[in-house]
Amino acid sequence: MTTPEHTPVPADFASRVQGTLMGGALGDAFGYLVEFDSLADIQAKFGPSLLVDLSQASGTPHFSDDTQMTLYTLDGLLDVLEWANNGVGADINACQWLAYLRWLKTQDIETAEHAPEQAPRWIDSQSVLHHQRHPGNACVTGLATGEMGTLFRPVNPESKGCGTVMRSAPYGLLPNVDAETIYKISSDAASLTHGHPSARQSSGAFSWLIHQIVIAGLPLRAAAESARDRAAGEPSADPELLARLESALILSKPPISTHDGAPLSGDSLSDALGLGWVAEEALAVAVYSVLVTEQAAGSPVDHFLAAIRLATNHSGDSDSTASIAGNILGAVYGEAALPPSWLTLCEAPAVIRRLGAEFITLTTGA
Ligand SMILES: [Mg+2]
Repeated sequence: MTTPEHTPVPADFASRVQGTLMGGALGDAFGYLVEFDSLADIQAKFGPSLLVDLSQASGTPHFSDDTQMTLYTLDGLLDVLEWANNGVGADINACQWLAYLRWLKTQDIETAEHAPEQAPRWIDSQSVLHHQRHPGNACVTGLATGEMGTLFRPVNPESKGCGTVMRSAPYGLLPNVDAETIYKISSDAASLTHGHPSARQSSGAFSWLIHQIVIAGLPLRAAAESARDRAAGEPSADPELLARLESALILSKPPISTHDGAPLSGDSLSDALGLGWVAEEALAVAVYSVLVTEQAAGSPVDHFLAAIRLATNHSGDSDSTASIAGNILGAVYGEAALPPSWLTLCEAPAVIRRLGAEFITLTTGA
């Protein structure tokens, strides 16, 4: 199931890259409005229709650590690509580690004295990325050790919080790299902060999914099935990841088997797939949300809105599930998925677009 190494870059690659990044940021900003709210809290705040539009934010909506870390993932890749264009094969995971250590600095968190320190890059001067927006505990503690976590020398060995998955879309955008390598880069980067197999494998499966959509050109459901198959092919496949992904695929398959034919939502969604605080649940809720809303969707924007609302209005980790869902739909449709009225509310779109444009230039020369 690997992509041939030199699959041509799709004609709409630039739009898909920007769509993936911005779709994630919009989903994150929407979900962050209710990240720590139960379904009852959301209902109390926004009424029986729940949260339906980004304009319901009181004040400027902000994206959270999910988008901040996704952009630092991208910046780590930019570092590697810049070295490559200068004829140097940099260590990809070391560049990711240095990028995440720079992210940790933005959060004003001390790291161990022996941790390496890279010279600041453009991204580090962007004040919007210095706000503390509830960074994940394992991301912070894993990096603060100053030890480079690996598969064989894990930091936070029991951690499988969704902090790995939610930052890992950019790996899937790399062209001219086979899917198996994408999976390895993503799962090795997960080990920088989280040691549990599910954290590694969920991250790898998510990046694989994005890669199958953007680079291999698979339709959404086929890409999701391919990610499930890759996860199942892991020698020590995490059973909970496999179970969650399988449930997401089965439950989203038309005709929907709920008593009223409507998608699972709120508590019934959480009962079926979990709350999303851990890696495999966050991935499964996002995958379910994008798949189950596909049939009824009229336009890419309609699909985006339906999926993001579903991925947000529950008692769990709404910003991460909605951010991952937004990444996926941006990968599928490119910028056509992004609701224009939400874009006008998006925080710091120029920062996101500039980093996306650098990635496009360094990977395609465009
Ligand atoms: Mg967050």
